[in-house]
Amino acid sequence: LQQKKYEPLTESSAIALAVRLRIFPTTSVLTCKEIGDGNLNLVFRVIDNQTSKSIIIKQALPYAKVVGESWPLTLKRATIEAEALKFFKTLAPDYVPTVFYSDQEFAITVMEDLSHLTIARTGLIQGQRYPLLAEHLGEYLANTLFYTSDFGLDQQKKKELVAKFINPELCKITEDLVFTDPFFNSPTNEFETELENDVKGLWSDQQLRLQTALLKKSFLTEAEVLLHGDLHTGSVFASETETKVIDPEFAYFGPAGFDLGQVIANLLFQAIAFEEKRDIILNDIETFWRVFVEHFSTLWNTQNVEPYSITEGYLSIIIDKYLKDAIGFAGCELIRRTIGLAHVADLDGIEDLNNRIHAKRSALKIGRHFILSRNDYKSITDLLRNLEF
Ligand code: ADP
Ligand code: MG
Ligand code: MG
Ligand code: MG
Repeated sequence: LQQKKYEPLTESSAIALAVRLRIFPTTSVLTCKEIGDGNLNLVFRVIDNQTSKSIIIKQALPYAKVVGESWPLTLKRATIEAEALKFFKTLAPDYVPTVFYSDQEFAITVMEDLSHLTIARTGLIQGQRYPLLAEHLGEYLANTLFYTSDFGLDQQKKKELVAKFINPELCKITEDLVFTDPFFNSPTNEFETELENDVKGLWSDQQLRLQTALLKKSFLTEAEVLLHGDLHTGSVFASETETKVIDPEFAYFGPAGFDLGQVIANLLFQAIAFEEKRDIILNDIETFWRVFVEHFSTLWNTQNVEPYSITEGYLSIIIDKYLKDAIGFAGCELIRRTIGLAHVADLDGIEDLNNRIHAKRSALKIGRHFILSRNDYKSITDLLRNLEF
């Protein structure tokens, strides 16, 4: 890098960077386009016109792109993201893009271009079916959650990693936007006036407050595993055969159920928004959980570093805890994506107002039910059988 200090890249300085890093042959003619559609960062795609080879350069801005300079945000998140991608790549190589280069000062990550795939949320909304998505995400999470837990990772090494992935500013965003603001009359909330009574009902529900407080406490205090931390369907690239998980800038050591619950909730938005797909999506959620449990159990039985792991009953207590936590966290995600700051296109894209309000009421009702009743469920099938849309 020529400049000494951080500067946001432009399409031309991104090309200059690719040249300096010698990513392409010196004779290449490169073009670049900023393609970021996320809330926080810049994403550049640099292409060699002769060979059609391409790379992605992602750069953090010192503020959140969605809000602007009035919401400053640490550049350190780019380092967290690059380090998490590299680590997850070693644990679940099929499901994570390759990082070619990263630089802390400039807050950049140079990585594999996945443009041959589609962001899962976008594809799903367009009616695309990804027959392996659920299975792949189950396997991805079995690997990343097991191998970063005190069951799959040297327990002293884990303590070092907990310190390395300390991510207070990004965790604060989750603490506010997922666990707090939607449950209070906060100015960050956003919802149709038609939902006002439903929302006031949530705000005055003391049982819901208490159970959400407990879920937030778990997020604040339980360093079980290295989470992705933002595992919605907009963080997943998919095709009929491939699945890649991107964007782990929220990574930190937290409760395993958080990633599991975000996957469940974001698949559920599809079932809520598209009645005709409901059975297929519910089946996918069941498959996701079954594959996760199968792989996690195999890893538990063959790779465990914890002497107590062979104790009769221990594994099933852990899986049961993950399930109950996942249901609760899924409930928080359902509610916050419906009335909080960052919505999902699955619901917002429903054009007919009555249908959209009905779908959003379903999301709120199911979310509330998940948070309140999470401890009553013994299996994922139990949970999905009893849903009321
Ligand atoms: P943010 O943190 O701002 O949400 P993301 O990592 O989610 O950024 O990326 C935003 C968008 O940029 C993605 O939705 C996708 O369209 C594009 N993008 C990100 N990474 C890649 C990649 N490796 N290959 C191709 N496109 C990518
Ligand atoms: Mg896109
Ligand atoms: Mg993103
Ligand atoms: Mg992001």
